[in-house]
Amino acid sequence: MLDQLPELIDPVVFAERRSHLRGRLSMQRLDRLAGFLFDDKGELNVDLQFYKEGKVPVIEGRIEGHLNLTCQSCMQALAWVVDKPVKIGMVQTIEQADRLTEEFEPMMVSDNKMSLPGIIEDEVLISLPDYPRHGHKCLQYEPAVKLAEPLEIEQKPDNPFAVLETLKNTGDQ
Ligand SMILES: [Zn+2]
Repeated sequence: MLDQLPELIDPVVFAERRSHLRGRLSMQRLDRLAGFLFDDKGELNVDLQFYKEGKVPVIEGRIEGHLNLTCQSCMQALAWVVDKPVKIGMVQTIEQADRLTEEFEPMMVSDNKMSLPGIIEDEVLISLPDYPRHGHKCLQYEPAVKLAEPLEIEQKPDNPFAVLETLKNTGDQ
């Protein structure tokens, strides 16, 4: 297994050679994805086969791994499993895109050099939820005793529940 995935790839050359890329990517190499993550922990395992479908270079494979999203309710880490099948046809014209079998997702290629981490980032980004949240009620029904923890201090002041909890707490003291 390759430990080091290349930064730049030439899809045509890779497809002609029927290259098979396998390797691991750490989050530190994925700048755009980083904006959606809680931290840089996690990694992605990439297994991609390059070949030609007619005249079009294609990539088929899978991206698997785990990362930490930010829960949009409590703003804490939300462990997320990535399991994204990849089936991309790298086309240079609209006509090529139209002729491509439906199972392939067309990707416009203008240059012979493409960023492999960039392709992987795009695939992972489209697989992420728009509004990641913990499956359980991570915020609304937290017991009042947890108010002293940093998690609660970071609450927005306009959260009506926070105000109520504060009033209740003051009354108890
Ligand atoms: Zn949460």
